Amino acid sequence: MKLIPLGMTLSAALALGGCMSDSSSVGATRTQTGDEAAAGQVAVKMIAFNDFHGNLEAPGTLAIPDPKDPSKTVKVTAGGVDYLAAWVKQLRAQSPNTVVVSAGDLIGASPLVSGLFHDEPTIEAMNLLGLDINAVGNHEFDDGQDELLRMQNGGCKAGAVETSCLYGGGFSGAKFKFLAANVQKQDGGTLFPAYEIKKYGNIPVAFIGMTLKGTPDIVSPTGIQGLSFKDEADTVNALVPKLKAQGVAAVVVVVHEGGYQSGNYNECKGISGPIVDIVKKLDKVVGLVVTGHTHQAYNCQIDGRTVTSAKNYGQLFTEINFKLSPATRTFVPGSIQAVNRPVTQDIAPLASISSLIQIELDQAADTGQ
Ligand SMILES: [Zn+2]
Repeated sequence: MKLIPLGMTLSAALALGGCMSDSSSVGATRTQTGDEAAAGQVAVKMIAFNDFHGNLEAPGTLAIPDPKDPSKTVKVTAGGVDYLAAWVKQLRAQSPNTVVVSAGDLIGASPLVSGLFHDEPTIEAMNLLGLDINAVGNHEFDDGQDELLRMQNGGCKAGAVETSCLYGGGFSGAKFKFLAANVQKQDGGTLFPAYEIKKYGNIPVAFIGMTLKGTPDIVSPTGIQGLSFKDEADTVNALVPKLKAQGVAAVVVVVHEGGYQSGNYNECKGISGPIVDIVKKLDKVVGLVVTGHTHQAYNCQIDGRTVTSAKNYGQLFTEINFKLSPATRTFVPGSIQAVNRPVTQDIAPLASISSLIQIELDQAADTGQ
């Protein structure tokens, strides 16, 4: 058996040299060819959306490029969480390293099919879809922080026997993680964790989630008593040393704040709005920023970072592919590729979610709404 230097994992040792003789030292390994370097890279796929607002059913049509003439657009029905889930499933099958994120306003200001039941149906649907992370947005606070904590932790809503815990005989809460890095409680802690670290091929990637600092200006004060909302970029930058101490060199920010542009949903014409200055202030360890709140779609490069948003109501999602380098443990330069894709209905919907939607529609009808 060959010895591996202390502090080095077998995979790291193999990545360095491909093979090791008993006399070789790490520093003396031959130079890797391009193919060998690429072989050690770890591919990650992200699927991102924002401002879903409980739209279990398609909210309407969306203009997409005409397949017959890409210079024109054609309107198609887009959305429906059972269709979104089907696209997620198809993409997930392409990569063992897939992560699904939502950039806030997942719930709140929802259509009846979810809103009547306190958005429990949206949480159940996202559990079935396989959402991993939801950064809180302002609308997550519509019914106050206690109700938001119930969305995460489960339990039936007090005094709401006719509208809570109707699906599956209970409500066990979100299987995915709510994140709230800039939502501080009076004890100094955050309402939800600031970040989640996921490992791909043993390389950690931190996902920091947060809402806009202006949240208190647009929500009812009773729901956020005792909470303070901190500056977005300052919050990220303050976390960076803590993340670096844990060996993290790749950071994704998922923030419920955004911008505006005048091009199509995969362009970035004249990007403006609060997100521009936020991104420019972010530590360079952040390579990718998933945004929301403005209900716009864009696919931008701002200050060397990829910045995306996928409109609203589940009509678009962003597919993001990137590679991680085992040597630098961060994004391979130039490897972050994003594309906004319409949630078209030319795919078989995910049956478990279609069934959930029908049950909720029937229950809404039963209540006489
Ligand atoms: Zn919002």
